[in-house]
Amino acid sequence: MRIFSHRIFTHRKIIIIFLLAIFIPSLIAAYLSISTFPKRREAVKKLLESNLWISGEAALKSVEGALLEHEQEALKSENFMRLIRSGKADQAVLSSPAFSEDTIGRFFLLDTDLKIVFPETATENAFGIQWDKEIQNSQFAQVFRRAEFFEFSQKNHIRAIELYKECAVESPSDQYRANVLEGLGRCLLSFKKLDEAYKVYNELSENYGQFRNKAGHPYGIVAVFQLYEIARQRKEEKKSVEILLNLYKQIWGGVWLINQPAYDFYMAEIESILNNILVEGRYSEIQKSYSDIQKQPSPFKQSLIFTDFLERNIIPGIKEKLSLSRSGDEIKHDRFIRDFENELYLISYTILPVFMQGQTFYGGICRDLNLLRDQIITKTLKDISKDSGLDFEIVDERDQNITTDKEKLISGESLALTFRTFPLPWKLLVSHPEIKALEITARREILFYGILLTLIVALMLLGAFMIARDISRETETNRLKTEFVNNISHELKTPLTLIRLYGETLQRKENLTNEEKKDSYEIITKESERLSHLINNVLDFSRIEMGRKEFDFKKEYLQDVITDTLESYRYHLEKKGFVIHSDIDQTLPEMNFDGEAIASILVNLLSNAMKFSPKEKEVTIKLFRDNGNAVIQVADKGIGISQKEIPKIFQRFYQSENKLVSEAKGSGLGLTLVKNITEAHGGRIDVESEVGKGSIFMVRLPLL
Ligand code: ADP
Repeated sequence: MRIFSHRIFTHRKIIIIFLLAIFIPSLIAAYLSISTFPKRREAVKKLLESNLWISGEAALKSVEGALLEHEQEALKSENFMRLIRSGKADQAVLSSPAFSEDTIGRFFLLDTDLKIVFPETATENAFGIQWDKEIQNSQFAQVFRRAEFFEFSQKNHIRAIELYKECAVESPSDQYRANVLEGLGRCLLSFKKLDEAYKVYNELSENYGQFRNKAGHPYGIVAVFQLYEIARQRKEEKKSVEILLNLYKQIWGGVWLINQPAYDFYMAEIESILNNILVEGRYSEIQKSYSDIQKQPSPFKQSLIFTDFLERNIIPGIKEKLSLSRSGDEIKHDRFIRDFENELYLISYTILPVFMQGQTFYGGICRDLNLLRDQIITKTLKDISKDSGLDFEIVDERDQNITTDKEKLISGESLALTFRTFPLPWKLLVSHPEIKALEITARREILFYGILLTLIVALMLLGAFMIARDISRETETNRLKTEFVNNISHELKTPLTLIRLYGETLQRKENLTNEEKKDSYEIITKESERLSHLINNVLDFSRIEMGRKEFDFKKEYLQDVITDTLESYRYHLEKKGFVIHSDIDQTLPEMNFDGEAIASILVNLLSNAMKFSPKEKEVTIKLFRDNGNAVIQVADKGIGISQKEIPKIFQRFYQSENKLVSEAKGSGLGLTLVKNITEAHGGRIDVESEVGKGSIFMVRLPLL
């Protein structure tokens, strides 16, 4: 009990000393040194960040400056002058020297009332013939009305044709002549005068194409549809297809000024006819030029779409801006963002000075934001990046990177700047590679020191554990040694006391009977044998422990050694009342072993069997061959060993704490020796035992 409490105390003391003297100071030192890293890093970062602010602002200014320059160049009055002169939207963009390389915008020109002057558009509304006042009652008007009366009310086409022809000669203007030709053609066609009708419609389309009919459609389109109809009725299919394809090309190319619904209607109409006719490789040449046109987008259609966008979004936007600005000073130019078909556009407009005297004109440009970003912003940023070494990125409202160069993503500490002069829905992220590098090094440093610290702590804990284990082993061995000394003293004392007692009896008492004398001699012999067995064991053990034990291997027959040892021990056993069974295989071959050591194995096993069989005194000794081994087996019907105890019985100094055995004290070395000797012979020892039923010890030695 005393030893036990001392042990716990020693453990605790060592662990506390370890924690106080080594572990805690090391941890504090490590913490202090690691905690200075972030502070130092923070200081450097702050310095870099203040630099970043200055450089970022400068970069933003440069980008907005580039955009402004581009915008000013675009909104120059001369560009709009040129537009008015050239007329066509697409040509205008391309011919402007400022946009020869990067066509990124569409121009528009509005008058004082914000009506579109450019791009040229077709009037939406159909118009009926408005007779001029002087014409209203003229001879021409009267004849024209009569012709219409005969055509529509009387269905008298012959009379109508005559009257229309009369009108045609007297037409006061080209517009009226075109209207007359239309009526004439219609009547001729109804009257099936195809040749004449063809001539009339041909003249109408070629000479009066730009004039419009009552429904507002240009004769250039309406008359050609009639020409197609005539060719069809004449069964001239190829010619009819050619006529239509030609018209298709003209509409696609914007020859006739029409609005977007009219464009879509005519194109769809022609396409449905052509698609029906041009099947299975018919008129391959026509088919080829038809599909060639279809492959390219129509610039005229683009311009129509733009006009639509202009009317629906841009003009209301400008109106809104103007109404706001009218309260204060009138703003000469402004810009805003509009969304069209999921794309964002930047609309910039200005009041054009020195344009047309006395009138305000608004000139503007609508630019695709993505193109603006790719062609101006990224370009400028690249140049700045080259000079300053900064990294830039543009992100949208959802913080998604929208820069074209997507691989190089800025992470961590970057500065977000909002565009000021331009209402762009983006932010400019600026970062310095050195900040990034700083972060990476910091992360690496923390990782490195973290691992180092963990390693040191782990090693310290391992050391502490090993020291504690060694101490506990040492303490255990000391306890066992003390117990061993106690036991061995007891073991030595008992036989010595008996030897002395009987020796003195023999010496002093002269009147002893022969029987008594014999008993005394026997006891002295038995006890001295026990003593020498004990001493032999102790000596053998100490030799083995010190590594000095040498075995004397010789070629011998194992059965001889076993038989001899058993015979010399038989007397003891029988004296103690044991029944001995033996079964020795005499056919085993010669083996290489140390006879004395093997004899001591058997003696130890027999002595244990004897010691631990208080009631049923029966021992069986066998020697047999099993799987290339010679097996020495000693079985008893004694107290047995519990399963829990079996692994411990071979430990040095181990002795059972079982009360039953307390009288039969030993040294705790017997089985340790048996195991050592067996293993020195390349063998193995096994135990089978059941408490209360007995034990079987089997020593296997290899035959070879
Ligand atoms: P001891 O000198 O005590 O016999 P051993 O090393 O020979 O030392 O045996 C260790 C322990 O193994 C014994 O104290 C006993 O508890 C147990 N033991 C050994 N042989 C037997 C056996 N034949 N029957 C029961 N227990 C045994």
